[in-house]
Amino acid sequence: MNSFYSIKALKKYLNQAKSEGKTIGFVPTMGALHKGHLSLVQAALNECNIAVASIFVNPTQFNNKEDLDKYPRTLEKDSELLENVGCHAVFAPTVKEMYPHGLKNGFEAPQIGNITSVLEGEHRPGHFEGMMQVVSLLLDIVAPTHLYMGLKDYQQFAIVSLMVEAQGREIIMRGMPIVREENGLAMSSRNERLSPTCRENAKIIYETLEKVKSQLDFHNIDELEKLGKALIEKLDGTEVEYFEIVDAKTLTKTDINAKKNLIALTAVWYEGIRLIDNMIL
Ligand code: AMP
Repeated sequence: MNSFYSIKALKKYLNQAKSEGKTIGFVPTMGALHKGHLSLVQAALNECNIAVASIFVNPTQFNNKEDLDKYPRTLEKDSELLENVGCHAVFAPTVKEMYPHGLKNGFEAPQIGNITSVLEGEHRPGHFEGMMQVVSLLLDIVAPTHLYMGLKDYQQFAIVSLMVEAQGREIIMRGMPIVREENGLAMSSRNERLSPTCRENAKIIYETLEKVKSQLDFHNIDELEKLGKALIEKLDGTEVEYFEIVDAKTLTKTDINAKKNLIALTAVWYEGIRLIDNMIL
């Protein structure tokens, strides 16, 4: 596997591949890789000539300094995992390499409606602006033919899809299914910070989403949201930040009474860790 730390070296490698007509599948990550990330790399390998992953803990998308400081950084192990699945290249720049003139780099978020201000956007102010800023920068650098992202971050995928369209980029978007631990908990780099007992107990989030899905025909949306919150909070030490059922395309409450194309999304604090999950109903 080729490891790149500078934009210049990565571009040189990719330009060569592009000049040979190769397709480039790109997987942006913040590292601390697990099977969820690797499933994206695998999908890129299956569909493209070259799979490139990036590992960059982007400071501008953290609205909480402690979360940024505590975010696991395990580059050596990550590189090994990428190499083992057959990833062709990893790009692991420093903050200085990505933002040579400071974190405010003049990025202007495209106008894509209020999808950035609901759910995660409401509870993590500035998060999506920072995420769009870094994804936009990475797409400028890598200029992939295909972009692979996980539906675990469902709203992120929806926003990046709109951004890519608004910016006129010709990239094939692939939203890949959520990879879960054996007990159903959505895999996340943050799970490492849960104690073993809590990591087991946190399966309640997945079980609740399944339960709510099974009750769709028997309750209205309001009742289902209350049920979701109550079932999760039965577990001591949890606090549900939101449990919302919305239209899976717009992520708003319009037209949801038709009970078609709905998604339940939730964010839960547990042991000081913020966990997110979702399920198409
Ligand atoms: P992150 O490193 O957390 O920013 O995630 C990088 C990419 O991996 C994003 O597109 C995530 O949606 C995706 N991802 C993270 N966890 C999972 C998972 N459990 N299943 C599928 N994709 C995931």
